Amino acid sequence: MLRGKKAIIFGVANERSIAWGIAQALHREGAELAFTFVGDAIEKRVRPLAESLGSKIVIPCDVSSDQQIASVFHQLGNHWDSLDIVAHSVAFAKKEELKGSFMETSREGFRLALDISAYSLVAIAREAVPMMKSGSGGSIITMSYFGAEKVIPHYNVMGVAKAALEASVRALAVDLGPKKIRVNIISPGPIKTLAASGISDFKVIGHHVESKAPLGRIVSIEEVGNTALFLCSSLASGVTGEVLHVDGGYNIIGM
Ligand code: NAD
Repeated sequence: MLRGKKAIIFGVANERSIAWGIAQALHREGAELAFTFVGDAIEKRVRPLAESLGSKIVIPCDVSSDQQIASVFHQLGNHWDSLDIVAHSVAFAKKEELKGSFMETSREGFRLALDISAYSLVAIAREAVPMMKSGSGGSIITMSYFGAEKVIPHYNVMGVAKAALEASVRALAVDLGPKKIRVNIISPGPIKTLAASGISDFKVIGHHVESKAPLGRIVSIEEVGNTALFLCSSLASGVTGEVLHVDGGYNIIGM
């Protein structure tokens, strides 16, 4: 489905990352991959994972830095002359903002969460688009969560960041439609990952979803990866600006 396509993936931290589920699905269908990482500890995990999928392009990038984002695409240009897919699977909020009440959110905590988890998509899209020049268009995907739509205990400022990210996806879809670049956002249910471990009482959220979701279970990174594959492939050629839930149906339940 993706033979000859080139994809860059932001957000693999380890083999439990949602971005890793996406990388595996895109690789399975023939895409060539490049990866970014932040910090030495994550680099040690990402390099072997990238190599296991035949990728030698592994570039440092703290998405809170415009210079580092620009440098990623400059370096990518040394390997590839075009780009088809950008997968953004990055979020961050201080641990102290992900417990207790939303009202306690600090100004700096709010700024940091929105910067890394929402604005980074805009900054990355701006740098990526000049490379996304293949006549068949391109695809940008990112990750939301149900906390963007409804209040989830302890998700606090991250819910606000995800709401901003969803709105950014719609605005980018309008900006980039004329260039045949589609922008979509997946809203996965809770999955045990490094980022999820920062959310207070995350286990409770998981158990609640298992007991209420129509499918009666938690989803896997492979299921999110397959949905990403669909959105990045020509099967989704008419889909842009969309929020696609991969949550076992949890979001449709009223009572
Ligand atoms: P993860 O910890 O594996 O991935 C988060 C990634 O963000 C890591 O690779 C981390 O290095 C990266 N990151 C954080 N700050 C960064 C920065 N300043 N610069 C560059 N990278 C930075 O966790 P995950 O659960 O796979 O998270 C991926 C995405 O999925 C996030 O947007 C998250 O909000 C979203 N999501 C997760 C769940 C879940 O339950 N795990 C559910 C819905 C949405």
